[in-house]
Amino acid sequence: MSLFDHYIPDPPLRCPVCDSVLEDWQGKDGPCFLLTWRQGIKFPVAHEWPDESVSDTKSFLESWTLPSRFVIYTDGCRCDRQIEAYGTCENGVWMFAEVVTHFNYRPGSLTSAQDEQQIRDDLKRWIENESR
Ligand SMILES: [Zn+2]
Repeated sequence: MSLFDHYIPDPPLRCPVCDSVLEDWQGKDGPCFLLTWRQGIKFPVAHEWPDESVSDTKSFLESWTLPSRFVIYTDGCRCDRQIEAYGTCENGVWMFAEVVTHFNYRPGSLTSAQDEQQIRDDLKRWIENESR
């Protein structure tokens, strides 16, 4: 089973092209343990495990933290594409979130130069064509 976490940017992020509020963010860079993270709060605010499997909810939630940088994604807007965002922590707390565009795109360590160019081109087409 492939697990992930839920993420709630606060304030919410809007699609830079269609201006929809983007919800239902998920990510695999954190603990991937069906936790819900809310921007501005150090520890997860919820989990999806049955009550009987977690003896002490507070200490369970407080046993997790986020990496200093992580990627989240959603497909919930009129653009009909997966949208990614970067999260950034300060002192272990998620403080910033920004939608990924061709301006701020950062290739991952496994991204080839060719893939990087394709991803940048795709982001640029999305931002420039539909925002006109
Ligand atoms: Zn959109």
